[in-house]
Amino acid sequence: MTEIKIYNSRKKAKLAFTPIDANNVRMYVCGPTVYDFAHIGNARPAIVFDTMFRLLRHVYGEKHVTYARNITDVDDKINTRATEEGRTIAEVTKQTTAQYHTDIDALNVLRPTIEPFATQHIAEMIEMIKVLISKGHAYEAENHVLFSVSSMDNYGEFSRKNLEDMLAGARVDVAAYKRDEMDFVLWKPSSDDQPAWDSPWGKGRPGWHIECSAMAKKHLGNVFDIHGGGLDLIFPHHQNEVAQSCCANGTKQMANHWMHNEFLNVEGEKMSKSLGNFLTINDARKQHPAEALRLMMLMTHYRKTINWSADSASEAMKMLSKWHEKTANIGKISTADIAPKFIDAVADDLNTPLAISILHKLDGKQLKASAQFIGLLLESHSDFMSFKPEGTEIDEAEILTLIDKRNQAKADRDWALADKIRDDLVEKSVIIKDSADGTSWEYKK
Ligand code: AMP
Ligand code: ZN
Repeated sequence: MTEIKIYNSRKKAKLAFTPIDANNVRMYVCGPTVYDFAHIGNARPAIVFDTMFRLLRHVYGEKHVTYARNITDVDDKINTRATEEGRTIAEVTKQTTAQYHTDIDALNVLRPTIEPFATQHIAEMIEMIKVLISKGHAYEAENHVLFSVSSMDNYGEFSRKNLEDMLAGARVDVAAYKRDEMDFVLWKPSSDDQPAWDSPWGKGRPGWHIECSAMAKKHLGNVFDIHGGGLDLIFPHHQNEVAQSCCANGTKQMANHWMHNEFLNVEGEKMSKSLGNFLTINDARKQHPAEALRLMMLMTHYRKTINWSADSASEAMKMLSKWHEKTANIGKISTADIAPKFIDAVADDLNTPLAISILHKLDGKQLKASAQFIGLLLESHSDFMSFKPEGTEIDEAEILTLIDKRNQAKADRDWALADKIRDDLVEKSVIIKDSADGTSWEYKK
């Protein structure tokens, strides 16, 4: 059996992965808050953990892997968006969830085994909060319920932060009713225009962290194998999930392996809604084939920063064109065709850059099967070739025909025709370059 190694960001070491139960390998990944289109930074964890999901399914069998990725459909950002747009909260969350699905389906991200919605797990959250209160880990104050960080010996150990950093990082709300300024909200009261559920502490809504603890417990149990998300979630979100789950369930840990993906940056800064430097997946897909976006993401190891540029997507596009060309006539393939060293690379803490360098050396069935293993080359050759960026009038197949015509014109020494074809392509935003290897082309940005 292929040995999987995972860099455990909690233990700061790459360790062999041994599941708790090989018949039910369990992974939880924090999913999107559905208030707006997801950006390509958000696509990174979706693609990274999809690749992990594919690997686990390959090694342990499809039926033996449970992957839960939640939808956070109760959050103040959603309330604000609904008010701004004069829409109901349900309309905003329903539409955004559908957009998210369309976007990441296009990126060949498999649907997780379970996609729990926070609003459908309020009873489980209330139950967990009750347990935390009964065990002395939480207290009620002015219609809020707060987790008491001092009730836990090792709060902060998970994220390895000192108190000062935690205070700064948590951007803790100062509130008179808190016993300790680090204490965080499990339940809070709602005003008339905010979503509200009945609870022993009055009408209100849950805090963000308790959502994941309750959903993970329900679907994966008290302790499961892998918990993942972006690096920014380590503190406070994952720290607080661990605090809640361990204290409520009486366990030493919540998950055995913690995996965190690095950021996708733009000019040295994390792509984020708040900085305004974001490109939605929806817009990126209009400029680049979704498959090229996925490959671009996998060209960098998940623990290294990606510096986003349209050029990196174009580079990925060129690689894919070559592979599509090489595999256009390859028929049915099976998992037996995947190159063993390719699987080993992916199994080694998702070393996708190494795996991609191996793809360059493969042909035929091995190339197709290996690429498909990481969610590439799933489109037909002709669908891939017919992609054209929004705003351009010509697709790849037409371009290649014109390049052939131009090469013929050059062979016939008909320079006028050759130049005319090149100029016509430039008109259509296509730039061609001649080199010793032949003629390449790209869409002008
Ligand atoms: P959010 O909607 O901000 O909670 O993010 C959803 C997921 O995307 C989380 O796992 C984040 O860590 C991750 N994420 C957000 N921004 C980026 C980024 N620029 N690069 C990589 N991952 C990100
Ligand atoms: Zn979470």
